[in-house]
Amino acid sequence: EEDALLAGHLRLLAAAWQADPPDPSAGERLLPQLIGAFLMPADSHCRAGPLSRPAIYDLLLQLCASNCRCLRALSLALRPLHRIHGWEVPAPPEPRGQCGLVGLKNGGATCYMNSVLQQLFMVPGLAAAVLSTPDPTATAGDEQNTATAATTVATAASGSSVDGGGSSESGDGALYQLQLVLAHLLELQQQYYVPDQLWANFSLWGEKVNPREQQDAFAFFQALIDQTDEQAKRPLLSAFFRGRFKHLIESEQCEHRCELEEDFYGLHLPVQSGSLEAALHAFVRGETMQADNAYSCERCGNRKVTALRRTRIASLPPVLCFHLKRFDYDWLRGQPLKSDLYFSFPRRVELGPFMASAAGASSGDSASDGPQQQQQKEQEMQEQQQPSNYNLVGVVIHSGKASAGHYYSLVRERRPGELG
Ligand SMILES: [Zn+2]
Repeated sequence: EEDALLAGHLRLLAAAWQADPPDPSAGERLLPQLIGAFLMPADSHCRAGPLSRPAIYDLLLQLCASNCRCLRALSLALRPLHRIHGWEVPAPPEPRGQCGLVGLKNGGATCYMNSVLQQLFMVPGLAAAVLSTPDPTATAGDEQNTATAATTVATAASGSSVDGGGSSESGDGALYQLQLVLAHLLELQQQYYVPDQLWANFSLWGEKVNPREQQDAFAFFQALIDQTDEQAKRPLLSAFFRGRFKHLIESEQCEHRCELEEDFYGLHLPVQSGSLEAALHAFVRGETMQADNAYSCERCGNRKVTALRRTRIASLPPVLCFHLKRFDYDWLRGQPLKSDLYFSFPRRVELGPFMASAAGASSGDSASDGPQQQQQKEQEMQEQQQPSNYNLVGVVIHSGKASAGHYYSLVRERRPGELG
């Protein structure tokens, strides 16, 4: 009853106020009273009931709509009722640091991406090659227009299908994502870039990545090369990182020789050997295939022969990666394992002795050289002339345990034209 009475009085006041508006200062004086006495009294809960409360709001609206001094009085009356615990708006990022480089924000556990991306960015010529490659999945003209492309990305991110790998929607492909990251690392005038489009769109093994889940940096590197080159429809990243192995199987029990070539994007080395040099020697040492494991020579009618299986490097890439195999998996306990064994590597390494063209790698008899062998030898001569000296230019480091850790990168700034 009291509430209905109050509501009635307020409605009457509002009508009278509208019919014959008093001095503007009267509204200013009334307003704090309405708030302090009925709506939000300091000493108790709201005194206005379900009928009078809308009447108060209507009256406040009426006062403020016709009088900006009332509006000001309203905001002054409301301000002390708000407790401000600092601003929720994040501060804008700092400008690009004095080192001239731009960072990449970690999306939770995306340090495996960031450490690889920063290495790629620092490879001379790589960013230029990637950025000058038109994205065939983009609609005509899009790749020329960043604003249009960015809009396309936003649309693709909100409504794209979740099929990994062979997605053809403009903007969500690895090539475009890599272009976006590299362009920002080049041009952004802020301390860091947030590669959230990459987090939203990149797939590993056909599944969208979860930015809070750690993945293997080398697996990311490999997937990025595969997906980028597939979209570029040419060896784009491969041109920097792809080398070729030559697998050889030779037997002393027959004259046949089996050769097989295979692409590689890194030399996968166990850390147990303790040093890069020892690991490389172990890598080319070879394995004898005998007894149960004997080689069945096709050209001898699948006769089982004792043979030596070896791997050599047939061709080296401009930038050579060594992948130290520190991670393993304990299948019994269902746990990932990491080896913390000491492993040393030099600042400069000579790969010549591990090439297929190196002395002693071929057991061919010069007297029986046919045209094919001759051609092969010429090819090997050419390969021998390509530089096989490498300078250390970067290290991707994983610290911590297999299940939880952090990736970071050490990168050397190269002089112009120096690949490493
Ligand atoms: Zn044979």
